[in-house]
Amino acid sequence: MTEFDLIRKYFTRPAPNALLGVGDDAALLKVSDDHVLAVSCDMLASGTHFFPDADPFMLGHKALAVNLSDMAAMGATPRWATLAIALPDADETWLERFSAGFFALAQQYGVELIGGDTTRGPLNLCVTILGEVPAQQALRRSGAQIGDEVWVSGTLGDAALALAHLQGRAALSAGEFAACALALHQPQPRVALGLALRGIASSAIDISDGLLADLGHILDASHAAAEISLALLPVSSVMRAYVTLPLGEQCALSGGDDYELCFTAPAVRHAGITGISARLELPLACIGKVVAGRGCIVHDAAGNRLNPGNAGYEHFR
Ligand code: ADP
Ligand code: MG
Repeated sequence: MTEFDLIRKYFTRPAPNALLGVGDDAALLKVSDDHVLAVSCDMLASGTHFFPDADPFMLGHKALAVNLSDMAAMGATPRWATLAIALPDADETWLERFSAGFFALAQQYGVELIGGDTTRGPLNLCVTILGEVPAQQALRRSGAQIGDEVWVSGTLGDAALALAHLQGRAALSAGEFAACALALHQPQPRVALGLALRGIASSAIDISDGLLADLGHILDASHAAAEISLALLPVSSVMRAYVTLPLGEQCALSGGDDYELCFTAPAVRHAGITGISARLELPLACIGKVVAGRGCIVHDAAGNRLNPGNAGYEHFR
């Protein structure tokens, strides 16, 4: 099949919310009145972000999910995406599954694929996502204030624990692994939470590189410090058994790939945030508070100060 047959067959779908979608030299888009464009791009490289033989359906899901997560972290409504893909060959079975995973999630969030680029090469996936947000309501990293509470959605560490199992650093039962692998392979972007936090959160970030690293970005941008408690970190029933062990503690504090949101909000918003949690049926845990200074202090259950070493995943360390 030619490159153009491939694009037509696997990556061309109606895009009623675009003036022009796939097929011309560029797509044409109109942003809603009083909104600004939120644009972000995330690349998944074979061997770095996934195993070369990874399930193509899950890859299609994850390539879009990690980008939707960035929209969630900005409080933006995701609208459109482009997909740049390098493929070793035109494997139709693979393309069928990949595009099915991509479009299943796209449809769930009303996102339209409006362009991209297709080349031969080592498997590499790059999605650019475009969303909309009223300019004043975007959730930036820089807005945390001293006294704000620090919150985390969902649970932490499952994806990292699943990866540790795959790499032989943990020995999970089949059932435990299945539960954790869902977080690793099919993360659920917290788009609805990001929208609900407009006007409520003072700052937000999605946790792609580990809680400490990503909360650290909020604190750097906001010129503040935080005190958080290990005992308050939300963990799944599988992680509950590991979190008191060094590996589990590391997964919860520094494990990547969770794609939960970490955000700060004034304490007067506490009850409102609990209400959002109930409405979205999504656990939201208050794990500490913003204080004066720099960096993040972690206390264990006994109140002792921990010195967690790993500051999160960093490609060129
Ligand atoms: P050009 O040569 O102008 O860069 P291309 O031949 O790369 O155009 O792409 C033709 C059309 O197909 C363009 O509209 C482009 O955005 C779209 N396209 C190419 N690859 C993809 C893809 N993987 N997913 C979605 N659209 C794609
Ligand atoms: Mg091109």
